[in-house]
Amino acid sequence: MIDNLRVGEGFMDNMVDLRSCSIEELENLSLELGEKKFRGKQLFAWIHKGIESIHNMANLPKDFKVKLNQVSYINNMDILKILESKLDGTRKYLIVLKDGNIIESVLMKYKHGNTVCISTQVGCKMGCSFCASTVDGVKRNLTSGEIIGQVLTIQNDIGQRISNVVLMGSGEPLDNYEEVIKFLETVNSPLGLNISMRNITLSTCGIIPKLLDLAHRNLQITLAISLHAPNDVLRNRIMPINRVYNIEKLLDICKKYIKKTNRRVTFEYSLIRGFNDKREHAIELSEKLKGILCHVNLIPLNEVKESGLKGSKRERVYEFQKILKKNGIDVTVRRELGSDIDASCGQLRKGYIESMRK
Ligand code: SAH
Repeated sequence: MIDNLRVGEGFMDNMVDLRSCSIEELENLSLELGEKKFRGKQLFAWIHKGIESIHNMANLPKDFKVKLNQVSYINNMDILKILESKLDGTRKYLIVLKDGNIIESVLMKYKHGNTVCISTQVGCKMGCSFCASTVDGVKRNLTSGEIIGQVLTIQNDIGQRISNVVLMGSGEPLDNYEEVIKFLETVNSPLGLNISMRNITLSTCGIIPKLLDLAHRNLQITLAISLHAPNDVLRNRIMPINRVYNIEKLLDICKKYIKKTNRRVTFEYSLIRGFNDKREHAIELSEKLKGILCHVNLIPLNEVKESGLKGSKRERVYEFQKILKKNGIDVTVRRELGSDIDASCGQLRKGYIESMRK
C-alpha cells in the first residue's frame, strides 16, 4: 500500500499535493484524518526537507502515514538532464513534471551561497521578442509545489543548502500570482527551507496591478524589473506588455513600491546590438531613472536564433555603463555564468524539445 504511493498518477487530481500546502492546510488535513493538529507542522517539516516518500517520515504514526498515502502525494519531479559548466560550475537542470511537461532550472554557485534560478510557468505568454521561453507560448502555470519542488530537487541533488532564489527562469511570475505568493510564503517559513525574503529576487516584465498588490504586501524580496529600453517606442517593439503598461506607468509603480517597502529596485537592461545600446539611450535611461532608489543590471543579450537579435559587444556594454555611472546611476554588468552550456532562459528546454521532435 505505502510503497504504491508514488504510482498514483491516475487519480492525482483528487489527491492533496503536499508540497503545495501551507502549514495551516496540513494541520487541517491532519485533523481531518483524525490526528492531532501538531502533526501538520511535522508533515510540513518533512516535505520541505525534500523527503520523497511519506513512508520515510520517521516520527509520524504508521496508521497516519497509511491514511496520508490514500489521500495525498508528494509531487516528486525527475531530473531529465544536467549540464555543468566547465568554466564556473553552473549547473542547468531539465526537470520533468508529473504530466510530462519539462521545465528548466539553474544552479549557480556564488561565494555568498548556492543560488537557484527557477521557472514559474511552462513556457511564457509575454511575447518578448528576444526571449526563448516565450517562442511557443505558455502551456500552463506551475503550482507552488512545483515551484518549490525545483529548489528541493536541486538541493537533494547536490546535498547542500540552497540559500538564494531568483524567479528568473521561464514564465512571468506575476502572471501566476497566487501560486508565486504561496511559494514565497512557503519557502520563507522557518519550519521549511527558511530562505530569507531578502535572498529572493522576483523578476517581472511589469504587470502593474499585480505590482501594486505586491507593494501592499510589503515583502522584503528584491524586485527586478525587465526594462530593456529607455523609451516606449523601443520598448513597444521588443516587449508587447509595454503597450498595456508603458514605462511611465511602470516607473510610477516602482516609486510607490520603493516608498512602501524601502527596498531598492533592480532594473534589468539587456543590450541589443544597434537597437538600445547607443550613447543617447544611456543618457535617456539615466534621466528616466534619476532620483529612483535603484540599481541597473546590464546584460549583453544572449542570442536566441528565432529573434535575429544580437548582443552588444563588450566595449559597448562598458561604454553604456560609464555613461550611467557618470550620471549618478548605480550600475553593474552582470557576470555571465554557464555561457558554455547554453545561453539564456528557456533555451535548454527548447533545444531539448526540438531534438525530441526530430
Ligand atoms: N518574465 C520575467 C522573468 C523571466 S526572464 C521577466 O520578464 O522579468 C529573466 C530575465 O532574463 C528578464 O529580464 C528577461 O527579459 C531576460 N532575458 C530573456 N531572454 C534574454 C536573452 N536572450 N538575453 C538576455 N536576457 C534575456
